[in-house]
Amino acid sequence: MKRRELLVVTSFVLALLLASLLYLASQGFWNSTTDSSPDIIIHNGQILTMEQSPAQVEAIALQGEYIVAVGSESDILTMASANTQFIDLEGRTLLPGFNDAHSHHIGDRSYVNQSSSEEVIESLLSLGWTSISELFVNQERLDGLISLDQQDNLRIRVNAYLPLSWQFERFGDWYLTYQPGQEYSSKLRIGGVKIFMDSWYTNPLHYFSQAELNSLVQQAHDDGFQIAIHSVVDNSTDIVLNALESALDGQSNQQYRHRIEHLVLLRNDQIQRIADLGILASFQLTWINSDWMEAVSWPVLQNYSHLAGRWRDILDAGIPSLGSTDYPWIFGTERSVMSVISSAVTRVGELGLTPSDWMLNQTINVEQALRLLTIDAAYGTFQENVKGSIKVGKFADLVILSDNPLTVPENTLAEIEVLMTMVGGIVEYTAPGHQFLSAGCVGAISQTTEKTNPLIKMEMIDTPNKNEEWRTGLDAITFIWSYS
Ligand SMILES: [Zn+2]
Repeated sequence: MKRRELLVVTSFVLALLLASLLYLASQGFWNSTTDSSPDIIIHNGQILTMEQSPAQVEAIALQGEYIVAVGSESDILTMASANTQFIDLEGRTLLPGFNDAHSHHIGDRSYVNQSSSEEVIESLLSLGWTSISELFVNQERLDGLISLDQQDNLRIRVNAYLPLSWQFERFGDWYLTYQPGQEYSSKLRIGGVKIFMDSWYTNPLHYFSQAELNSLVQQAHDDGFQIAIHSVVDNSTDIVLNALESALDGQSNQQYRHRIEHLVLLRNDQIQRIADLGILASFQLTWINSDWMEAVSWPVLQNYSHLAGRWRDILDAGIPSLGSTDYPWIFGTERSVMSVISSAVTRVGELGLTPSDWMLNQTINVEQALRLLTIDAAYGTFQENVKGSIKVGKFADLVILSDNPLTVPENTLAEIEVLMTMVGGIVEYTAPGHQFLSAGCVGAISQTTEKTNPLIKMEMIDTPNKNEEWRTGLDAITFIWSYS
């Protein structure tokens, strides 16, 4: 065969091959054979990642339990196959699911007349929570959680903190049956241990001497457990800081992440010391709002409001912090994520009273509140690499909100509705009257179904409400929330 003939034949064969490939592509050949295409694509809204960069993306792709891609509308839609389902946000806001870093939702449910754990979990999902830390999980409660998990009824992620004490009672070393960070499944994990240092409803009361606390903390620290210590009043926090400093013995707290719960009264020198030691501050966004006016007469707050609820000072000092509710231990009854954020930002409680100036002097903004309940809370349980933000490789724990908390007026924050909650890629809650998950053919998406193969040119789909200036919008809004 001459060289020219060889070229002609080769070109013909290549053309035939290309035509076959294009034919197969048009028939969705790869869509049915590849297993790397996303199960779900979420797009066409305001997707706030809670990452530093990119802080906002146009679309994300999910596969199984995980987020597998984030990016532009065009890049993500190109990944779709015939089996991909779509969630069209229609301009609404998507955020990572919310984490309550300190609560007793399940353990103390009887105080709010909820009889079953399943009922509590259903309620939490409808309010936007995808993870909770339970701060008092004794043996009986842990058995209950393990059983729920084994039955596949733990539809929310739980970190269990095992108590070493309650008031003057000591529980011994029962916790050593369990491993620090032990995971029963992706839903249930041993978070750490819990110690109660003080009481505050009457006169401040300490449950441990310095020597006793040092010994207890040292033991749990040596056993490798993260330690969460309940300390409300400043003079008790001195004892706690001494014990933690002694156990850390010059090491960074980053690898232990010991935390102090509540920190209602703090002096300047203590804020500095907590920052220096890198201790995590765990405070309640539902506390010390205008519903607390009657508490102002409590001895602990009467003369110390200038030391109380210094959430802004804590954040300004660069202290790693965790947001939570401590539900049901709040004055009100509301525990929806947006009411918690609203309380944090406005300091107006459920009764609608006007907050004191001392409450308004420690404001934090909406973005800070969102972080405290997402990525920062995830850091508090060593899980910042698996949840707490919208990032490739993390669990698809997500919520759809009716509006963007970063741009609405602060007095309407509580009106934002949770429209959908997803945990690990499973839609666990959808608000009545809403339907998000659809098989390929809704509105603008219907145009993409025949353009799902990368070999075929895809037209760009218009994205309404694409607001590049959202951060500027945030800066323009001054949110006020003060605790103290
Ligand atoms: Zn608590």
